[in-house]
Amino acid sequence: MHYWNKIVIEAERRKGMIFKYSIPTTVYYGSHCIDEQAQAFETLGHKAMIVTGKYSARLSGALDEVIQVLSRYDQEYIIFDQVENNPSIETVEKASRIAKNNGVNYIIGIGGGSPIDAAKAIAVLAANSEMKAIELFKNDFDRVLPIVGIPTTAGTGSEVTPYSVLLRNDLQTKVSFGNIKTFPTYAFLDGRYTESLTYNTTVNTAIDALTHVMEGYVAKRSTPITDALALEAISVFHQSMSALSTGKITLEDRERLMYVSLLGGMVIAQAGVTLAHGMGYCYTFFKDMPHGKANGLIMKGYFSYLAVHAPQKVAQILQRLGYKEVVEFTDWLEQLFGKAPQLTSEEIEQYTALTLLQKGSMANTPGEATQEIVHHLWETIN
Ligand code: NAP
Ligand code: FE
Repeated sequence: MHYWNKIVIEAERRKGMIFKYSIPTTVYYGSHCIDEQAQAFETLGHKAMIVTGKYSARLSGALDEVIQVLSRYDQEYIIFDQVENNPSIETVEKASRIAKNNGVNYIIGIGGGSPIDAAKAIAVLAANSEMKAIELFKNDFDRVLPIVGIPTTAGTGSEVTPYSVLLRNDLQTKVSFGNIKTFPTYAFLDGRYTESLTYNTTVNTAIDALTHVMEGYVAKRSTPITDALALEAISVFHQSMSALSTGKITLEDRERLMYVSLLGGMVIAQAGVTLAHGMGYCYTFFKDMPHGKANGLIMKGYFSYLAVHAPQKVAQILQRLGYKEVVEFTDWLEQLFGKAPQLTSEEIEQYTALTLLQKGSMANTPGEATQEIVHHLWETIN
């Protein structure tokens, strides 16, 4: 095509652009940002509930730094440190009762996605005295206590998304809720906090971040802004791929991955995730598989689908990762994670039915993700 024709088409495309971009979270990124921006906590109230998992908030150093800063500003706090990986509605209900009984005015989530997601649910329940956790999924609430997100993994980007993903034992899957009110007010990202991560969790969470960026990039709800963020994130991720393979992960890599995770959150906050996340929840629920690894294993089948339904975007992704063919990328993932678990034909039927429950992710997938396609993808991955 002639150069000028390309420019005309591009200009036409821009003229018709209609999109929204809204992230109400103030982001502080960088080493020691909590200490340097400590006054932010004072703007939220006088008593915090700090929500964490069992060990990582202490191990990472983040909890100590937050406590020091709260003490400096005469803030009271209580700690709820019982959030499990993949938080359940029972846990957030329990924590919210404690928050209400203690007159807490804001919630600080420190940890991976699990404590930060739990913090969002607790912030809603604590602000609405009669509300039951099961009602969170109606997304019909106005009052939410202010939330602070402090990630100790570089993966979910939950500190800049409105989403809270909770385990629904009754439905045998994970379900998310969230609206404009559940964006954290402040996010503090300090790559030092991820230095205590094991190699496996570093890799799992890094791939979660990468899949957010890629899924948001191909999503039907993607916009020019989320595309720009996604392409930047993929290029930055590329610089740390060999570190992820070899395990020689420096602080610089960790800061880079934290940045990728942040961009991933900003992308999915607008563009949403797609089929791969919807499918991955089955591995997590039934095979007890970490979230990022589950997404990574889905990529093999999903990329062959995307190569047909979003070929230009797949080409852009591969180029930024330094690959020519999809198989080079999926081979790299296989080196990290090994092969997907073998599923029985009954499991494939069950996983297909449960994936179809993830209606938002399905509708956001390029092309048309029908039951046949989902079934076929589960067979391909197997
Ligand atoms: P996670 O479940 O929060 O944590 C995984 C493990 O890593 C836990 O054992 C945790 O320990 C440990 N850990 C965390 N930080 C550590 C550190 N700095 N040093 C040592 N260990 C550390 O993992 P995640 O992958 O970050 O979050 C996954 C959850 O987020 C899933 O429920 C997923 O569905 C959700 N998610 C949410 C969004 C969103 O937009 N909201 C997006 C994607 C995924 P402790 O138990 O001691 O804390
Ligand atoms: Fe995710």
